[in-house]
Amino acid sequence: MKIYKAAIIGLGPSGLAVNKILYGDSNNEIIAFENEDINKRDNFFGFWLTDWMRPFENIIEKKWYEWTVGNKNTNVTHTSIDRPYCVISFKDWKNFCLKTKNNLEIKNKQVVRYFSQQNFFKIITADNKEYYAEKIYDSRSSKEKKGELLQHFFGINISVADNTFNDKKLTLMHFTKENNILHFIYILPFSHNKALVESTVFSTEVFDISWYREKISDYLKQNNINEFNEKSTEKGIIPMFFAEEKKPANSNVFNIGIRGGACKPSTGYAFSFLIKQIQLLKKSNQNYVNIHKFLERKMDKIFINFLKNNSEDGQSFIKLASNLSGNEFQSFMMGESNLLTKLKIIKSMPKLPFIKELFK
Ligand SMILES: Cc1cc2nc3c(=O)[nH]c(=O)nc-3n(C[C@H](O)[C@H](O)[C@H](O)COP(=O)(O)OP(=O)(O)OC[C@H]3O[C@@H](n4cnc5c(N)ncnc54)[C@H](O)[C@@H]3O)c2cc1C
Repeated sequence: MKIYKAAIIGLGPSGLAVNKILYGDSNNEIIAFENEDINKRDNFFGFWLTDWMRPFENIIEKKWYEWTVGNKNTNVTHTSIDRPYCVISFKDWKNFCLKTKNNLEIKNKQVVRYFSQQNFFKIITADNKEYYAEKIYDSRSSKEKKGELLQHFFGINISVADNTFNDKKLTLMHFTKENNILHFIYILPFSHNKALVESTVFSTEVFDISWYREKISDYLKQNNINEFNEKSTEKGIIPMFFAEEKKPANSNVFNIGIRGGACKPSTGYAFSFLIKQIQLLKKSNQNYVNIHKFLERKMDKIFINFLKNNSEDGQSFIKLASNLSGNEFQSFMMGESNLLTKLKIIKSMPKLPFIKELFK
C-alpha cells in the first residue's frame, strides 16, 4: 500500500500553488486529483502587485500602471507607479507550478470522500478506487448559495482594427445603467488591437450567456468598435460570501483556495490571496491561516449587506475611487489599507444605509 506525503484535491490555482510552494523543492511523492481537463482551462487572473506576489513577476503577462472606474458621465483615473495591476494566465500559472523537483502524480478522477485511518487518510474516487496520503489539501468549493450575492461574468478575447485600444490604461469598472442589478464592463487591453472585454454582474442569480454578450456588444458599439474577431471566451462565478467550512478538525486536513476563505467577497479577488494563503501555511504549524484581517472582513460584510439590500448602480464605487489615490485604492483592494485610507473609504460610503448595516 503506497502512502503519499500529501493528496491535493483539485488542481485549480490553489492546488497548483500547494504543489509548487509547499512541496516543489522536496523529493516528496504527492498525488493530485482533478475531475476536469485543466489543459482546457484558459483565463486570466488580475491583482495589484504586492510584496508577496513579487516572486511571480516573471510569469506576469502584462502590467498596467493606470486604470479607470466610471460610467458614461464620469471617469476616475488612478495611477500607481510601484503597485501596477497585473494579470497571470491560468496556463502560465499551471506550467510554473508543475515545474518542480517533487514527484507529482495526477489522477484525472473525482474524489468522492476521504476519512482518516490511523495516521493517514483513505481517499475514495468515483471509480471506487482507494488512495492513501498523510495530508489532505482540499480545494473543492460551492460557488453558489441560495439568496447570496454572486459575482458572475462572461468575457470575450477580441482582436480589432489597429490602434483601437490604449494598452497603457485598463478599464477596471465601467458601470452601465440596469434595472436593479449592478453591472460593469471590465477591459484588459493587451495591445492596441487585442483585449479581453468582460461583462460582470453582482446579483443572486446567474444569467444566460446571451445577456452578457448583448452588454459587451452594446458597449463596443458605443465606443465605435463595430467589427471584431472573437479569439476565445471565459466565464465564471465567484462567491460574494465567506466560505463556510474553514478550519477542519483534523490538523492534517487543509482547506485551500476559495474553500479556505481566500476570496475577498466584496470584490471577488481570490487569486493573489490564495497564493498568500499557501505562503502563510508554509510558515505556520496550523492547518488554517487568516488571510483577511478582522477589520477588512468586517468592512467586507457591511459592504456586501449594503449591496444586497440597496439598489446600487456603481455610484458608490465611483465616489470611493474619486476619494482615493491609486495607491490607496489598490491597498484597499489588496487588503493592505491603513487606518487613514479605511476612514476615507467609510467617509465615501452612503451614510444612512451603512449605519443600518453596521448595527444588523
Ligand atoms: C474565469 C475566472 C476568472 C477569474 N478572474 C479572477 C481575477 O482576475 N482575479 C482574482 O483574484 N480572482 C479571479 N477569479 C476568482 C478565483 O481566483 C478563481 O475562482 C480561482 O480559480 C479559485 O481557485 P481555487 O483553487 O480556490 O478553486 P478552483 O479554481 O475552483 O479549483 C478547484 C478545482 O477542484 C476541482 N474539483 C472540484 N471537485 C472535485 C472533486 N470532487 N474531485 C477532484 N477535483 C475536483 C475543480 O475541477 C477545480 O479545478 C476568477 C475566477 C474565474 C472562474
